[in-house]
Amino acid sequence: MKIKSAKFIISNTEIEKCPAPDRPEYAFIGRSNVGKSSLINMLVNNKKLAKTSGRPGKTQLINHFEINESWYLVDLPGYGYAKSSKMNRYKWSKFIEEYLRKRENLMNTFVLVDSRHEPQKNDIEFMNWCGHNEIPFSIVFTKIDKLSSSKLQKNMFNYRKELLKFWAELPPVFTTSSESAFGREKLLNYIEEINSMYENAKSD
Ligand code: GDP
Repeated sequence: MKIKSAKFIISNTEIEKCPAPDRPEYAFIGRSNVGKSSLINMLVNNKKLAKTSGRPGKTQLINHFEINESWYLVDLPGYGYAKSSKMNRYKWSKFIEEYLRKRENLMNTFVLVDSRHEPQKNDIEFMNWCGHNEIPFSIVFTKIDKLSSSKLQKNMFNYRKELLKFWAELPPVFTTSSESAFGREKLLNYIEEINSMYENAKSD
């Protein structure tokens, strides 16, 4: 997919204030510092679209971007940031949970995980929660330029193993680097395929 335009639309914490659900939407989520802003900027070829934050937990809103005037990319707050208060974390989960469960045009949620780390408890918990709630998701391994391919294979295997303890099937998996733009085409093509299915279903 060629990216022709990427435009910020709105930030909020309420599903009612999100844009009308009239086109396919894709959410990006992950722990702070996982490389979410960098990945979004790399995908849409715009270094400044999503703010690359130095401070964990800074972006605590549902951020809508309109891509190619035909689909929405949503940047969700990072979860599990240590410095946030319990109260903040509670509020975070409530509005994100509501968004993920109720947003009718949400086609897929990309769950970002840092490819350098062993499976993290809150990532696995979040994926399991998505599974239980029938929220379609894919795993995106980030920062793969930072480790050797054998270490990457080992870490990906460990994630698969962990998820297979709970589920019979695994979600789609992507490997990416915002430094080299590795994985960009595959991820955008995946979105494009789902967009086509959405269009076909609409015209049936
Ligand atoms: P966010 O908090 O999840 O939005 O993470 P950021 O996109 O702000 O990235 C956190 C840090 O990781 C920044 O210093 C980025 O430059 C760095 N980073 C993000 N993606 C990559 C990547 O693919 N490769 C490398 N080497 N560094 C990355």
